[in-house]
Amino acid sequence: MSNVDRRVFMAGAAALATAAVTDRGLAETDDGGPFKLPPLPYAANALEPHIDARTMELHHGKHHAGYVTKLNAALKDHGQAAGLPLEKLLASINDLPEAIRAAVRNNGGGHANHSMFWSIMGADAAAPDGDLKAAIDRDFTSLEKLQEQFNAAGEKLFGSGWVFVTVAQDGKLGLTPRRNQATPIMKGQRVLLGNDVWEHAYYLNYENRRADYLKAWWNVVNWKAVAERYAAAKAGTLTI
Ligand code: MN
Repeated sequence: MSNVDRRVFMAGAAALATAAVTDRGLAETDDGGPFKLPPLPYAANALEPHIDARTMELHHGKHHAGYVTKLNAALKDHGQAAGLPLEKLLASINDLPEAIRAAVRNNGGGHANHSMFWSIMGADAAAPDGDLKAAIDRDFTSLEKLQEQFNAAGEKLFGSGWVFVTVAQDGKLGLTPRRNQATPIMKGQRVLLGNDVWEHAYYLNYENRRADYLKAWWNVVNWKAVAERYAAAKAGTLTI
């Protein structure tokens, strides 16, 4: 490598290093507030081809990061609310000062929903078994029926929102769509799993074909992680 080439190479490497630091800075936004963006538990391209890396980078590093930043900003002058764990903050949404209620609903809900979302996906999808499979068969007849109902609810949801499977402490499962960033946690319920049907979750890859995204998404559900949530819900230790 000539000196000139080396200089060019080094300049390129320095630019890349700067970009990496900047990206990391964005992905791990820490504004000193009580809530932090959790890192993605896998590489951004781990869910390809079903969810593309660019969608994951934007979804996590921009959208989710934005909810965390705005949640912390809303709570800045509300020390009591800021001291609550996220699930308690959301469960008490109707008791919060009106000035921050909408911001907490949108951004606190967004933070909880996306934190759950990253944690239940992964490359190692496998299939439900044991207690979880028994509960799905009992409450939805079969995994296929659950998926059918879930996808239909996602297609029907007008605008932006989520479809959730809720889990009661006795293990009973339910299906519920929610608008925007609302979550069953706001009603004191627990979420077993959920899919994001905001356009930002799929538009780069699927454009307007939400139904295709809903179908493909099941390929990246990590059933081991879902089974852990199911066990935690029954033990009363599942938070968000
Ligand atoms: Mn989203």
